[in-house]
Amino acid sequence: MNAFDNAMKQLDRAAVLMQLDPKTLAKLKTPDAIHHFELEVKMDDGSMRKFPAYRVQWNRARGPYKGGLRYAPVVDLDEVKALSFWMAIKTAVVGIPLGGGKGGVVVDPKSMSVAELERLTRAFARALAPHVGPELDVPAPDMNTSGREMGWFLDEYEKTVGRSAPGVVTGKPLALGGSLGRDAATGRGGFDLLDDVLKRVGVTGKARIAVQGFGNVGSWFAKLAHAAGHTIVAISDSKGALIDADGIDPATFKDRPHHASQSELLTCDCDVLVPAAIENQITADVAKGVKAKAVLELANGPTLPEADLVLEERGVLVVPDVLANAGGVTVSYFEWVQNMTRETWTEERVDSKLKDTMLAALADVLAAKARYGGTMREAAFVLAVNRIAEAMNARGSV
Ligand code: NAD
Repeated sequence: MNAFDNAMKQLDRAAVLMQLDPKTLAKLKTPDAIHHFELEVKMDDGSMRKFPAYRVQWNRARGPYKGGLRYAPVVDLDEVKALSFWMAIKTAVVGIPLGGGKGGVVVDPKSMSVAELERLTRAFARALAPHVGPELDVPAPDMNTSGREMGWFLDEYEKTVGRSAPGVVTGKPLALGGSLGRDAATGRGGFDLLDDVLKRVGVTGKARIAVQGFGNVGSWFAKLAHAAGHTIVAISDSKGALIDADGIDPATFKDRPHHASQSELLTCDCDVLVPAAIENQITADVAKGVKAKAVLELANGPTLPEADLVLEERGVLVVPDVLANAGGVTVSYFEWVQNMTRETWTEERVDSKLKDTMLAALADVLAAKARYGGTMREAAFVLAVNRIAEAMNARGSV
């Protein structure tokens, strides 16, 4: 279950559908740059420790590299490469003028003090300073990082380069130039697609929805869907799942016992399954038991390629991650625009432009599907690859 192999299989399928020339395919399979550092950090007890760190810059044909920084013990280069590639696809699917990148540090953040995490983040910012910048590469939070880390990163970067540069990272605290609406953006962007998805799978009226993962993305999606009158029949976090056909108020989830397994949640009786936790959750075996009519992928890479085939055969509509969770990078882009123009947008403006962008991207994916056939994932890849290839070609070839 190597995320990078899976990502390349997805690209290969789209390449066949669109008869992509081998030269462009080869270019899209190779990143522009891979930066590897061993960050040296002073620990609270005075000792020095080294942490491997990566930044993969996939493709900048359509604009500066864009993508998060993840802190986790399981980070490895193949995972960062897959996530970096998916970011290039995602920014192209929603048509924002950015490329794809991703970074990660191999660290267990739970074992670190806040001061150690700050020193680690500052070391990463110093190492990356020559390679990032508002017009070059713009990191953001990802797993186990948040606005706090972005504030430290911004401060260290500005000290290193000696000038103000709020657009060097997104997902910042509001006080440092963050955007209203960024926190909810990924969950909200997925929610913006829900009505159309329900129509497509023939669910009229309110839906029964299961949500795996109750972090930033899953909790916002569940909150918005619940407020809109849908029934949340299952929610999980890393401790386990709560399944209740009568409906769950997301505000009470943390206080209710949740001991059911993740596979019970993934195969529970519902209309829409929303994986919003981690990669590689829907295997071919799980896919055989999925009862939902649609899967709305808010996590990155939750469905394995073999599972995609099973879901397609069984007529389950999969709204792919590169479309469904693109709300986060879309509002990151809005944040970057506000930083570059020194403007501050209202939350209403952010939310409404987000909805317009998500619905326009959905329409573009459906148009690609009508023209080329295939699944929604294949259509989203075809759309994105066409846009990236057009930008690469327009730059000339000598
Ligand atoms: P998070 O760290 O805030 O939350 C993750 C949630 O998943 C937590 O509730 C955690 O308990 C749960 N979880 C962890 N391991 C699990 C397991 N084995 N089984 C079930 N649940 C488990 O992360 P997030 O920001 O909400 O991101 C979730 C997913 O969405 C990731 O795949 C991330 O890459 C993707 N994503 C996030 C954003 C964003 O803006 N935050 C944007 C695009 C995509």
